Amino acid sequence: MIPYGRQDISEADIQAVVDVLKSDFLTQGPAVPAFEKAVADYCDAQYAFAVNSATSALHIACLSLGVGKGDLVWTSPITFVASANCALYCGADVDFVDIDSATYNMSVSALEEKLLKAEKAGRLPKVVIPVHLAGQSCEMDKIHALGQKYGFRIIEDASHAIGGKYKGKAIGGCQYSDITVFSFHPVKIITTGEGGMCLTNDPQLAISLNRYRSHGIVRQASEMTHAPDGPWYYQQIELGYNYRMTDIQAALGLSQMKRLDEFVAARHALATRYNELLQEDWIELPWQHPDTYSGLHLFIIRIKKNKQGITHRQLFEKLRTAGILVNLHYIPVYTHPYYESIGYDRKEFPQAESYYSEAISIPMFATLTESEQQFVVDAIKKPSGYQNLF
Ligand SMILES: *Cc1c(COP(=O)(O)O)cnc(C)c1O
Repeated sequence: MIPYGRQDISEADIQAVVDVLKSDFLTQGPAVPAFEKAVADYCDAQYAFAVNSATSALHIACLSLGVGKGDLVWTSPITFVASANCALYCGADVDFVDIDSATYNMSVSALEEKLLKAEKAGRLPKVVIPVHLAGQSCEMDKIHALGQKYGFRIIEDASHAIGGKYKGKAIGGCQYSDITVFSFHPVKIITTGEGGMCLTNDPQLAISLNRYRSHGIVRQASEMTHAPDGPWYYQQIELGYNYRMTDIQAALGLSQMKRLDEFVAARHALATRYNELLQEDWIELPWQHPDTYSGLHLFIIRIKKNKQGITHRQLFEKLRTAGILVNLHYIPVYTHPYYESIGYDRKEFPQAESYYSEAISIPMFATLTESEQQFVVDAIKKPSGYQNLF
C-alpha cells in the first residue's frame, strides 16, 4: 500500500518524546514554548500559540477576531470542512468564494466580484479565510488589499503550507493577514500527532488567542478585573476552551522542525520527477504561481475527461485497487449534507465543480521512494492496458 501522505519519524524525534516522558512536565512545561518559539522564528512572526489541532486554531482565531452571531465568514469551497466549521462554531454564517482554475486556491477575481455584490446587498464578510491548497500560498497581497478596501480581517488557513514561501518570505509571517494557522496532523508537512498553531503579529490578538486556548483564564494581575484575592488566584474572564498542546506533542514538533526544510526539499524533488514523468495531454499537472514556493503537502493532478479512455472515477478506482491510496482533496464543502441543509447554489462555483470532477491527489510525502513513485507513474500512465497492469 502506498498512502497519499504519511509522517517521517526519526530516532531523534522518538528520543525527544521519550525525554519529555521522563521529565516533570507532560503538559504546560517548557517544550510547548520552545516549539512555539522555533515556529515563530522560522516564520518571522511575533507570536505563536500551539494548540491541539488546526481546527481548534481556526476556532480561536475566529473568536479572537470577534466572529459571532450575525457575522459572515468566507472561505474556499475546496478545503477541509474545518476551514468553514470554525465560523459556524462561533454562531456566524459561512459562504464560499469560487476557486482559481490554475492554482485551485480562492480566486481573487471571484472574491472581488462577490465583494462588490455583498457591498450592494449590505452584507460584507467580517473575516475571509484563504486556504493555501497543497501548500501553495494564495495571492495574499491582493486579498490583503481587498481586506483594506472592504474592511474584512484575514485568517490564512496554512494547514498545508508550513515550510512554504510567499514572495520570498516564509508563510506564517502574517505580512498580509491577521492570523495564520498551521496543522501538524501526520499527513501534513511536520507532525505532532494531532496539533496546530496560530501565529500573529498583533499583541491584542496574541492575548486573546492565548486565553481562548486555555479556558479564558488569566493569571497575570495586570489582566485581571481586580487585584488578586491571594497568591492562589486566577480569573476566568471569558468563555475559553482546553485546546492546549501537550509537551509530548510539542517535543515531537520541535524535533520535526529541524528537518522541515529537508522535508520540503524532498517533496520538491518528487514533484520535479512527477512533472517530468507525467507529461501527458490528458493530465493537468499542478501549476505554481511565480510568487510562491509551495510546501507541497499534496500533489494534485487533474484528469482531463476521457482523453485516456477511462474516466476520472475509473482511474481513481484502479489506483486504489493497485494499492495506491489516492485521495480527492476536497469534496466541495457546500455539497456535504450538513452544508446542503444550510443551502448553497452549486452554480455559483463552476470552477470548484469542474475541479471536483477531475482532481486526484497522488502519493506525496518525504519518504516516498523512487521505485514507489515509478510504480505510481506506471499505474497512472498505462490506462489502455490498465486491466493487465492491475
Ligand atoms: C488538516 C486541515 C485542517 C484541520 O487540521 P487538524 O489539525 O486536523 O484539525 C484544516 N484545514 C485544512 C485545509 C486542512 O488540510
